[in-house]
Amino acid sequence: KPIVAIVGRPNVGKSTLFNRIGKKRVSIVEDMPGVTRDRIYMDAEWLGHEFTMIDTGGIELETNDTMLNAIRHQAKLAIDEADVILFIVDGKTGMTNSDEEVANILRNTRKPVLLAVNKVDTIKDNHDIYEFYNLGLGDPIPVSAANILNLGDLLDAVVEQLPKEGEAAEESDEIKVAVIGRPNVGKSSLVNALIGEERVIVSDVAGTTRDAIDTHFVTDGTKFVLIDTAGMRRKSKIEMPVERYSVIRSLRAVDRADVVLMVIDAVEGVTEQDKKIAGYAHEAGKASVIVVNKWDLLEKDSKTSLRFTENIRSELGFMQYSPVLFTSALTKQRVGRLTELIKFVAEQHNMRVSTSILNQIISDATAINPPPAAHGKRLKIYFTTQPDVKPPTFILFVNEPEAMHFSYLRFLENKLRESFGFEGTPLKLVVRGKK
Ligand code: GDP
Repeated sequence: KPIVAIVGRPNVGKSTLFNRIGKKRVSIVEDMPGVTRDRIYMDAEWLGHEFTMIDTGGIELETNDTMLNAIRHQAKLAIDEADVILFIVDGKTGMTNSDEEVANILRNTRKPVLLAVNKVDTIKDNHDIYEFYNLGLGDPIPVSAANILNLGDLLDAVVEQLPKEGEAAEESDEIKVAVIGRPNVGKSSLVNALIGEERVIVSDVAGTTRDAIDTHFVTDGTKFVLIDTAGMRRKSKIEMPVERYSVIRSLRAVDRADVVLMVIDAVEGVTEQDKKIAGYAHEAGKASVIVVNKWDLLEKDSKTSLRFTENIRSELGFMQYSPVLFTSALTKQRVGRLTELIKFVAEQHNMRVSTSILNQIISDATAINPPPAAHGKRLKIYFTTQPDVKPPTFILFVNEPEAMHFSYLRFLENKLRESFGFEGTPLKLVVRGKK
C-alpha cells in the first residue's frame, strides 16, 4: 500500500485530521507510563484507493529536541518513507518560521507534496490561505478537520498523487528483477557476477529511497533494475560481512518485481523455505526463473542436471512453467545467460494474445475434452478474453461457473501454454457467469 505521511507543527490539527481520514477509529496506544498517544500508522481508503497514513509527529523524539528540530526530523522521515507527503499548516495562526523551514526541506524532494491549511472552519475564513502560497508548494487546500469541511477535496488530491496501481504502466521500460532465496544461497554473489558481466552500469540516481537501493544496468539495449540490491553489492574482493538479506526482504522485493530469480542452493536442494518463497512469487503473479546456484560444488555425471530438474519439478510443482538454470556465481558458469532468460520470461509475462485465436483454441480444447457438469448442467464456455498482462489474465464467460472444475481449468491452462508458450509466467484464469 502506498504511504501518505502527515507532517506539521504540534497543534495544527494533525491528529484530528488523521483520525477523520483513517478507517478505524483510533485505538489509543499506551507506549510509556503516563503517556497516551495516537496510533502512528492508520489505513485509509478513498474512492476505492487504499493507502496507509503515517503521523510523523507521533514518532517519538529525543525529549530535549527543540520543536524546530523535531519538525525537521518529521519532514525527513516523510521524505524517506512516503509516496505522498501531506503538509498541514494552521490557518488561524498563520504562517510561521517553522512552516517555512519545513517547506524548504519539502521543496527539495521529488515526491509529491500537498499543502493543507487546517482550521479554515467557514467559507469566509478562506482568505486565511493566501499567505501560504509563499511556501512555494503549490495551491494550499483549505480544510477544517474539526468541522469536516473540504476533506473530500483534500482526499481527491491525495489519491491523484498516489503511485498508479501496478506501477508498471506509468513507469519505464525497465525490467524489474528481484533476486530471492534463503540466506547464503549466493544471491549477493550472483548479483555481483551479473553486474560484473555487464558493460554499462547506470549508477544510482540519488533522490528517492528506491533509487538508492536498486541497481540499474543496461545490456544489449535492454534496461534492467535489480530491486533492493544495494546491500548485496560488494566493492572489493575481500569477503566483508554484508547486511543479511532476509527472507522478509525477499518477499518485499517480490512485490515490486516483474521477474523473480528464485535462487536455490545446489548442495542443499529445495527446502521448505524455498517452497514458501517460490509460492509467494507464484501467488503474486510474478514471472520467474529458477536458478540453481553453486553448481560447481556438485560431483556431476551425465544425469545430474536431469535428476535435479525432476526434483525441482516435483518439489515446486506449482512452478512447472519456470525455466531452470544451473549456475555458479563463483566460476561465472552460465551467469551470462541470466539476462537473456530474464528478458525472455518478462516478455512472456507481458504477452497479449489475439481474441480470435484465443477463442479458437478454447473451442478446440473443449471439443477434444468435453467440460464437466454440475447440477445436471454441462459447462459451456461462451467467450474468452484476455483483459490483462503481468501476469496474463483470462476471463472465461460460462453458463454455469459452479460446473467449472479445478482440473478442467488446469487442462485449459495447459492448452494455452501449448499454443502460446507463456514460459516462466503464471497465468490467471477467471470464470464468470453470464450476466
Ligand atoms: P546470499 O546470502 O544469498 O547473498 O549469499 P552470498 O552471495 O553471500 O553467498 C554465500 C556464500 O556462498 C559465500 O561464501 C559465497 O562465496 C558462496 N557462494 C556463492 N555462490 C557460489 C557458487 O556459485 N559456488 C560456490 N562454490 N560458492 C558460492
